[in-house]
Amino acid sequence: MALTITIPRPDDWHVHLRDGEMLDAVIGYTSLRFRYAMVMPNLTTPIATTDQAVTYRNLINDATPPESPDFHPLMTLYCTDQLEVQDLLRGHKEEIVEAVKYYPAGATTNSQSGGSSMMDYSHIFESMQEHGIPLLVHAESTNPNIDIYDREAAFLEQELQDICNNFPEMKITVEHISTSAGVDFVNAYETLGASVTPHHLSRNRSDMISPAFHADLFCKPVINSENDRQTLVSTVTSGNPSFFLGTDSAPHPTKAKYGKEAKAGIFNAAYGLEVVAEIFASEDKIDQLPAFTSENGAAFYGYEPSEEQLVLTREQVEIEVATHLSTQSGKEVVLFGTEEASHWTIKAKTD
Ligand SMILES: [Zn+2]
Repeated sequence: MALTITIPRPDDWHVHLRDGEMLDAVIGYTSLRFRYAMVMPNLTTPIATTDQAVTYRNLINDATPPESPDFHPLMTLYCTDQLEVQDLLRGHKEEIVEAVKYYPAGATTNSQSGGSSMMDYSHIFESMQEHGIPLLVHAESTNPNIDIYDREAAFLEQELQDICNNFPEMKITVEHISTSAGVDFVNAYETLGASVTPHHLSRNRSDMISPAFHADLFCKPVINSENDRQTLVSTVTSGNPSFFLGTDSAPHPTKAKYGKEAKAGIFNAAYGLEVVAEIFASEDKIDQLPAFTSENGAAFYGYEPSEEQLVLTREQVEIEVATHLSTQSGKEVVLFGTEEASHWTIKAKTD
């Protein structure tokens, strides 16, 4: 018998929509399926002012297919030296700016405008705490002397712990959490939440480099050990309200992924929901899926879950699914999760 579950239309609390022809090529995957999308600000020119956020939001809305049911991009500003408190407060008050994103300089794609120490931005965090503006953090040390698989833990201990202690009322999201150390850290503070990606829930670091290097699984923070993956799975399938879906969908053309220096990022907006559903189904925890995809994140950011619903059905037979998308000029992007997607159909509930 086919397995079926109905969930409120999900939200994606972490997504890279890019701009130009890549935005045109990817936006429909997000807008046709998700309600809110927390849009990351790391374009080639970082989104650091309210005016830039308005311009970017207009670009996104113009690119959104008109048949998208109930889609709202939520804009973030990049925590950089160009970020000004007065402008941030205006943007937040006018409901243009949802949150601020901190990147350690050099940690990932277009992060060169990021910070070298979080405490340098204390004056900004002070106002964010006062006005209830959430801080989103790419928690990964850039210290080359630290083993890459330990860099999340190192950052949490060396950087974020001080911030949590100095700003005990600021709402903070540890983005794309990838380790058990991260789970423990988030569970230790009431004001912390964490986004979790489909790929960190479904793959481990051996998948990435065995039997050969698999650039399509290369992302930041890197996918970690099987033990870490299992901790993430047991945490999200337990219904723990601090953890919610953020796909970290990050498209790169295959040319850049398979080139000499593989770009970090996985495009999973297309099938991320299927990948997550497959995990919950295989753990026999499908009843906890709506909490993770549609309720916990909304509650964390102060929203009600969507009143629209999606029906997810796991089919016995395999369905044929697309493996790539193509931009207007012919750049290809690999779709993550085709294996899982071949077992699921997802439709809007229409009664
Ligand atoms: Zn990201």
